[in-house]
Amino acid sequence: MYKYIFAILAVMFAVSSACSNSPWKTASPSVVKLPADLSAAELAFHEAKMMEIAQYAINETYHNNKIPNAIFTASIVHPNGTTICMDRNRGEDSSIRHGETQVILACSEKFKKNTWKGYYLYTTGESCPMCQAAIMWAGFDKVIYGTSVKTLYCELCMSQILVESNFINGYGYGLNDAGNVTLEIIGEVLTNVTTPQVFRNWCPGQGNETFWTIHPKCNSDYSPSCVNGSSILSTNFVFTFVAIMVIAISMLF
Ligand SMILES: [Zn+2]
Repeated sequence: MYKYIFAILAVMFAVSSACSNSPWKTASPSVVKLPADLSAAELAFHEAKMMEIAQYAINETYHNNKIPNAIFTASIVHPNGTTICMDRNRGEDSSIRHGETQVILACSEKFKKNTWKGYYLYTTGESCPMCQAAIMWAGFDKVIYGTSVKTLYCELCMSQILVESNFINGYGYGLNDAGNVTLEIIGEVLTNVTTPQVFRNWCPGQGNETFWTIHPKCNSDYSPSCVNGSSILSTNFVFTFVAIMVIAISMLF
């Protein structure tokens, strides 16, 4: 019995005395507020502004100018509801001119403003790591997106960098001395419009294949309706923990 106790103590000592190669702590993903988390008034506000960019994206992509990149449209909005800038992905000029970076650059140029504290940024699709970082550097108060990265990739077969925006946002604690992540993310707003009308199903065999069509490598147990996937993880964790404890205790006797 004593050898097991000694082994456990040795492991505890090794863990406690280990040093870290990482200079900073691992951040948890920041919270993403969903429509159900908002008051009726706030949701109505965000849906109206999302509809504005969704309508622009639909018109430019499918009706007026037939520009595929316009599916990604973004706007900068004052909290009083005034849209001060709107722009679209201009990937035809540069692959890093996404809707968000484009509207920030164009609006900063127009108003000679290098920071957007006090403003909201709306985007038809969840921001990629580049755009999420740009939004954080620009100092926005809130970013509101329509269709998520996981939907774009797993369900619509669109090429994406598979890092959700709240993972990047979690590391925003390094942007200020207070260690606060000041950018609020509100996701999945008006997806009944953005997902079926702005975006399309580009999966192979659907007839809409384009240069961004990919074959998703999503987890086989992924389900869009599984809104709290972490509950499965935590259940597994509890079972694992109990099993380890049972084994450890049985070894003592
Ligand atoms: Zn982007």
